[in-house]
Amino acid sequence: MNILAVDLKIQHATLKPEIDRAIQGVIDSASFVLGPGVEAFEEAFAAYHGVRHCVGVSNGTDALTLSLLAAGVEPGDEVITTPQTFGATLEAICHVGARPVLVDIDPVHYTLDPSGIEAVLTERTRAILPVHIYGHPVDMEPVMALARSHGLKVIEDCAQAHGARYRGQIVGTIGDAGCFSFYPGKNLGAYGDAGGVVTDDDDIADRLRMLRNHGQTMRGHKFYYHHIGYNNRMDGIQGAVLDVKLPHLDFWNAARQDRAARYTEKLADITHLALPRTAEWADHVYHLYVMETDGRDALQEALTRDGIASGAQYPFPVHLTPAYGYLGYRAGDLPHYEAACRRIISLPIYPEITHAQIDTVTKSIRRHFRSASAPDVNIEAGAAA
Ligand SMILES: *Cc1c(COP(=O)(O)O)cnc(C)c1O
Repeated sequence: MNILAVDLKIQHATLKPEIDRAIQGVIDSASFVLGPGVEAFEEAFAAYHGVRHCVGVSNGTDALTLSLLAAGVEPGDEVITTPQTFGATLEAICHVGARPVLVDIDPVHYTLDPSGIEAVLTERTRAILPVHIYGHPVDMEPVMALARSHGLKVIEDCAQAHGARYRGQIVGTIGDAGCFSFYPGKNLGAYGDAGGVVTDDDDIADRLRMLRNHGQTMRGHKFYYHHIGYNNRMDGIQGAVLDVKLPHLDFWNAARQDRAARYTEKLADITHLALPRTAEWADHVYHLYVMETDGRDALQEALTRDGIASGAQYPFPVHLTPAYGYLGYRAGDLPHYEAACRRIISLPIYPEITHAQIDTVTKSIRRHFRSASAPDVNIEAGAAA
């Protein structure tokens, strides 16, 4: 039996009657774009975060782009962010005409290292875009302190961290706006593309609502354009599905934490591996279970031979890819990040994966490191499988 990185069919099976009813309701009401399904979810997601606003948009990338615009980021501005992220984070900065300025990562948690921010501040710096990567929150206190003392906006990328907490505070509510993706495989996933922004800032929320809908206000005159906007609205069906799924998010995150603990318990004695670590102030929601090893590619091949999916998020240093060559970075500029690109591997994790499946994965890993084909084999690691 193959073990997938994520299996979305099981979760659907558990919610099928409710989801079917919700989707049918949207079809019957013909509210296909925005509408009551989206509004219900926006209200619930705002309440879940304890903030005044959630604005539903078309996907997580647009959530970031519109938030940067709504926060006043303009062409020529600089936005400080992390290289350890999905391409969407940098795209959003570039698409508003700003320049991404990269800060190396904290090599233990893979998140932006706040101690690198001060050195890259210029008079063009306008915002900081921390990413709670893999579900582990960024150390936000020093980020917010720097932002306040320099008058910068903070836009949080929470696309992998729905429900994660930093010192008890839910992510997305620490900066000026929190951006979410509801891509199907995320911790809270729609049945297609969808995204959202949470904020307590009335001006940002107003601007987001206009920008996602061609610069028109929701209750003002139709075809009266306050801004040059976009078509970045959330679909009615996605809102309705998300509204059904949101009440289960905390339970699913707890299940992810339980599966992560199982991996860590079963792999703890294998000295070839650096397992994920959680800061004492962090509530990690394990969008991914990411560990490090020298022989990453060989381990991935061994897992593939055993029918087990694995990933490398992300293998190519983004500043050295053709798209971002114009930024002028060189190999060696972001050493912790570049090392992580070579060494990280993610194991299958989702709320419905069973302990038995996890044990199959960990046994395969153990077999690999025992075998002669493994690089730098350290046989005494892990006696009992
Ligand atoms: C998924 C993701 C995005 C983009 O979300 P989409 O909904 O796919 O556009 C942005 N940032 C990070 C860190 C992500 O993982």
